[in-house]
Amino acid sequence: MKESDKHIAALIDLHRSLDRQGPGDAAFSKHILSLLPELPQKPRIADLGSGTGAGTFVLIEWFKAKVCAVDFSQAFLDELEAHAEARGLRDRVQTVQGDMGSLNWPPASIDLLWSEGAAYNLTFFGALRAWRPLLASNGLAVISEISWFSKDIPEPVWNYWTNAYPAISTEAENSEKAVAAGFRVLAIHRLPASAWWENYYNPLKEKIAFIKADADEAMGSVIQEVEAEMDIFRHYSDTYGYSFYVLQAA
Ligand code: SAM
Repeated sequence: MKESDKHIAALIDLHRSLDRQGPGDAAFSKHILSLLPELPQKPRIADLGSGTGAGTFVLIEWFKAKVCAVDFSQAFLDELEAHAEARGLRDRVQTVQGDMGSLNWPPASIDLLWSEGAAYNLTFFGALRAWRPLLASNGLAVISEISWFSKDIPEPVWNYWTNAYPAISTEAENSEKAVAAGFRVLAIHRLPASAWWENYYNPLKEKIAFIKADADEAMGSVIQEVEAEMDIFRHYSDTYGYSFYVLQAA
């Protein structure tokens, strides 16, 4: 296996069996859903970069509708399907293993596109450009993206994030990108820092504590990266975080 493949496999392994693979919060998501403009009676919904389905299940519960969950990782989708089965919701989920950046779905075939903690893999603008044609007329997209909360960013956090994710931008810059990609920006909601710890980093820390002693080289390097990310967040969470962009096809 190539080094980069080993790294991805370790990253997936570390995040398996966790409720979330990235920062988010079900109550926060439901609050956003409660503020959305009305959707068609039977909305066609997709959760892109679904992981094991943190967002997928919120959407199923909220809309009592079927949700299409897309992810690169079959391991995550297998877990998602097992959860659906256990909750009696198997017929409410369709999983698609593949690249969310090159979906060959018909144009205008989605009413609500949801994506948490995943768009950065295509860059925010790349994701918006790839996904805009999929949206029905007036269709909605709720997409979370790591964003600067201020223009005045301390050097350590600036260096960390511009290295890890060179496309990181302010909310104003991301809004401009959304407009350039053919969206109206309806709202922006910031995920509270507490949700990062309670729902993502703390469970991840517990898992790391459990597996660290037996970690091989690839897992060891993934753990180091994740710990560095947590350390930056511990000190600088007032300067950046996940913003949820509520967008409408313009
Ligand atoms: N949405 C989930 C959540 O909030 O718990 C998962 C977020 S996780 C940080 C990002 C997910 O995007 C991973 O499950 C990863 O496999 C998936 N992913 C990354 N690039 C992808 C791509 N090009 N196509 C499909 N899935 C992708």
